[in-house]
Amino acid sequence: MRVHGDKIIKRRSEIKKKSDYHDYLPELREDFQYMCGYCGKLEEITRNAFEIDHFVPKKYDKSRKNDYSNLVYSCYVCNRKKSSKWPSGNAKIQFVNENGFVDPALREYDKHLERKSDGSIYGKTKTGKYMEEAFEFRWRPIREIWQIMQLVKKKKLLREKMQTLQSDEMKDYIAMDGLLEELEKIMFENKE
Ligand SMILES: [Zn+2]
Repeated sequence: MRVHGDKIIKRRSEIKKKSDYHDYLPELREDFQYMCGYCGKLEEITRNAFEIDHFVPKKYDKSRKNDYSNLVYSCYVCNRKKSSKWPSGNAKIQFVNENGFVDPALREYDKHLERKSDGSIYGKTKTGKYMEEAFEFRWRPIREIWQIMQLVKKKKLLREKMQTLQSDEMKDYIAMDGLLEELEKIMFENKE
């Protein structure tokens, strides 16, 4: 499975230039489908607000600070883990010995990282393994977050279904909805 599940992240190509990258937030959120580009976490399942990451760190390329094509909608944790990591220390050299980052808004991201059916993320290539380590996917509640996302999705479906039921059929569904709500609360304690 892809890290982003069935969502396709793609930056729009036509965008009016802005002088402060923070002003791109509405477009960036939309293009990233309200999801962290790196770990695929939805912003509704987060403890800390999402941020704007510079794919090529500002430290190595100040000229792309306000360049939309260099921005990644990122969760707080991924942004902290990536920080200004950039193996070559040179904006023009993306990889050193295949170690480096791949832009999550490109389909190429899927070649390097994959999500297992339990929701965890692992590197398929050397570059993917580098990213898996850099973002510390293994040590974070990636699997739990993915499962909460599935639960939230299912709960929405259940609520939709409940709208169509007769009142005598409702009893079991109300109980199920309550259980899901409880489970979601327990699982939410694991979120980051
Ligand atoms: Zn993330």
